[in-house]
Amino acid sequence: MIKFKIELLKEWVAKWRSRYNPTDTLAEHFMKKGCCPDCGSEEMYEGPSGGMCTNVTCANPECGSKFNLGLPIMADRIGKPMPLKK
Ligand SMILES: [Zn+2]
Repeated sequence: MIKFKIELLKEWVAKWRSRYNPTDTLAEHFMKKGCCPDCGSEEMYEGPSGGMCTNVTCANPECGSKFNLGLPIMADRIGKPMPLKK
């Protein structure tokens, strides 16, 4: 898997946000905060992608939440939120 900075994602999102309004709260979170909604990590592993969507996995070893991102239109959680150990 390729590790990527979600900053890159935000750049892409910035190009599109003037054209589309996020209707999805998860997508909105990624667009506004640019980090994992569960733990705040800004590093993600990029997984397989198809079409406009990309699967990402949080790089925080204690989190590991997975999302299917098709920003800025949609963001779906894959599986359930991981409980955080703090
Ligand atoms: Zn996370």
